[in-house]
Amino acid sequence: MSYTNFKIETDADGIALVTWDMPDKSMNVFTQEVMDELDAIVDQTTADANVKGVVFTSGKSSFSGGADLSMIKSMFTLQAEERKKDPANAAQKLFNLVGRMTGLFRKLETCGKPWVSAINGTCMGGAFELSLACHGRVASNSKAVKIALPEVKVGIFPGAGGTQRVPRLTNTQDALQMMTTGSSLTAARAKAMGLVHEVVEPEKLVEAAKAMIKNGLKPVQPWDEKGFKLPGGGVWTPASAQLWPAASGILRRETYGNYPGAIAILKCVYEGLQVPFDTGLKIEQRYFTEILQTTEAFSMIRSLFVSMQELGKGARRPAGVPKTEFKTVGVIGAGFMGASIAYVTAAAGIPVTLIDRDMEAAEKGKAHSEGLVKDSVGKGRLTKEEGEALLSRITPSADYGDLKDAGLVVEAVFEDRQVKKDVIEKVEAVIAPDAIFASNTSTLPITGLAKNSKRPEQFIGVHFFSPVEKMMLTEVIVGKETGDKALATALDYVAAIKKTPIVVNDTRGFYVNRCVFRYIHEAYDMLIEGVPPAMIENAAKMAGMPVGPLSLNDEVAIDLSQKILKATVADLGEKAVDPRHMALVNKMVDELDRRGRKNGKGFYEYPAKPAKKYLWPELKTLYPQKAADKIDVEVVKQRFLATIALEAARTIEEGIVTDPREADVGSILGFGFAPYTGGTLSYIDGMGTKAFVAMCNKLAKAYGDHFKPTPLLKEMAEKGETFYGRFDPYGEAPKAA
Ligand code: NAD
Repeated sequence: MSYTNFKIETDADGIALVTWDMPDKSMNVFTQEVMDELDAIVDQTTADANVKGVVFTSGKSSFSGGADLSMIKSMFTLQAEERKKDPANAAQKLFNLVGRMTGLFRKLETCGKPWVSAINGTCMGGAFELSLACHGRVASNSKAVKIALPEVKVGIFPGAGGTQRVPRLTNTQDALQMMTTGSSLTAARAKAMGLVHEVVEPEKLVEAAKAMIKNGLKPVQPWDEKGFKLPGGGVWTPASAQLWPAASGILRRETYGNYPGAIAILKCVYEGLQVPFDTGLKIEQRYFTEILQTTEAFSMIRSLFVSMQELGKGARRPAGVPKTEFKTVGVIGAGFMGASIAYVTAAAGIPVTLIDRDMEAAEKGKAHSEGLVKDSVGKGRLTKEEGEALLSRITPSADYGDLKDAGLVVEAVFEDRQVKKDVIEKVEAVIAPDAIFASNTSTLPITGLAKNSKRPEQFIGVHFFSPVEKMMLTEVIVGKETGDKALATALDYVAAIKKTPIVVNDTRGFYVNRCVFRYIHEAYDMLIEGVPPAMIENAAKMAGMPVGPLSLNDEVAIDLSQKILKATVADLGEKAVDPRHMALVNKMVDELDRRGRKNGKGFYEYPAKPAKKYLWPELKTLYPQKAADKIDVEVVKQRFLATIALEAARTIEEGIVTDPREADVGSILGFGFAPYTGGTLSYIDGMGTKAFVAMCNKLAKAYGDHFKPTPLLKEMAEKGETFYGRFDPYGEAPKAA
């Protein structure tokens, strides 16, 4: 029999080598067709008397990324249709559907012939669950091998036997940690945990897998043997009596109960380990069915899996512009941002000319990369040669003439219109006529800056976030005159450096900073009202934000907030800012010299390490506090999410952001907006525009007009519309409000 996605070759010893190699895909993924074929392969190899055992591997450089996004998407669509058509049986049908993979893997592990998985590279999610169902697992010791069950990161959990097999192979604590964090394991770590049997040189992988079968590997899993004992000793042991309360406590501390998928992992393991294996699988299947019906799973999969991939693959790239190959990228300004931009560009294999006012400053910028490379080589993340090659791609210079070959120049000089004007003119005097100029400005509108350019259609904003090496998001800012070639080039560049772009039309603060400052300003309001600072910070984290607003303000600097408020007043007049906010930052910066982490004094105190930062005790004298028990923490949480989501809705209404996927992905990657919501607009869609508008009306009465729902929101609430319905990214062009 021949298969589309698999090749089978049986050797003289009767070992069938099944190679998974999907045509027209860079990575193997589970699709309906893959499962059908795998099912047939299990039948075929089981029935064939010549086959003594099966080695399962991949024909690609990675093993597999797990489930295919189109399959997951179709599951949600099917479920929605079923709920309308046959609500009484919809959940049962979903239950049957999700059981398909579980059943297939169980069939494989009980087929009576030994199966060995030969893991040659990245092995994620369902692919690792398949490997766990094999009787033997061999992994290559290549750096490319990353083993993980990362489902929790997109709101679900390993639902094809993972929650039952992992804690039957390794101790409960490690199993829970692996699944509730979704973190990656190296081959060596997976072996130490008992999740793989052997780790070998890449070229010996298949040979070693075959040897396991030749050496008499039993086609029976440990849990199917009589007298099987759980490696962690089971749930009713003194060790477990210590572990389980702590595990629930830690999960609560880390997630505040916001992630149903993570909680379900604990339940599956705790309940599953008390019953026979097949019953454990049923328990998992039930929880999986339940979790798939949550708003959190739906929204997280949509934003963090589907939309992120689509944006990364250039969903917003103008069609018809040839893909840009970057011979050299110029970076002007080798300071805090420019030095990091040079590093990520060189790390992506692109040569960089790094320019500053003098050679010393340019070299200082390159030294940043030298430090990072040294660190990576020391930690074994880069070889010495790779590190040297990376550094050789960065050429520091003080001569603009060195930019002549650059197809793209990114400017990261001082945030000063005149300095930027000079730089634009100097750069344009030397670069090729078709080269693109990008500014990394964080506050100056692109259209205004482009007025200094002789070719504004080739002028664009590429706004990085700090720390550039870590932050996955880049905002691409389209000015009034920016053309398609500039947009395509900017998106090709962002893709080349492996970041996720969102395309934003020009506005003060663009998208991310507009939202971030709403978050910070709500905290100012709360301080002024007398909400205790600790409550402000904790409630924000309980709402799902990664960093409290006061802590965040300390990081970005309070004097930057002051600068932005002053610039807003200068450009738009006194009424554009809340005078109480102005007074607050003026007091902090001008009177108290509390600028944030950078001068060791802000809303927090920063004692010498290893002591931890703590809230500045005098804040409560500055703003007399109410008793915490007089304040409803649920309302404090709501205020944070609502004020940010409202700002996101405004950016859509104003045509600044045009695609809800970008608002959502940008909010999570840009400032960690409560990921379980799926992002700012999914937060609104998730509760429904009607409920959101009602909530905002209530908040507006109590806390001010900035909570008043916008005309678009009110109209959508009346019509029962969602953002993804009205601004359907897959349908016709977004309708303006
Ligand atoms: P920085 O002061 O650390 O670096 C600016 C660099 O530009 C300095 O090395 C300076 O010597 C150099 N420079 C100044 N004038 C120059 C000229 N005429 N020619 C060549 N080099 C010149 O500032 P930064 O924090 O890196 O910010 C740079 C830009 O990035 C600003 O526009 C800022 O708004 C933007 N930005 C900053 C952040 C952040 O978190 N700091 C985030 C996003 C964007």
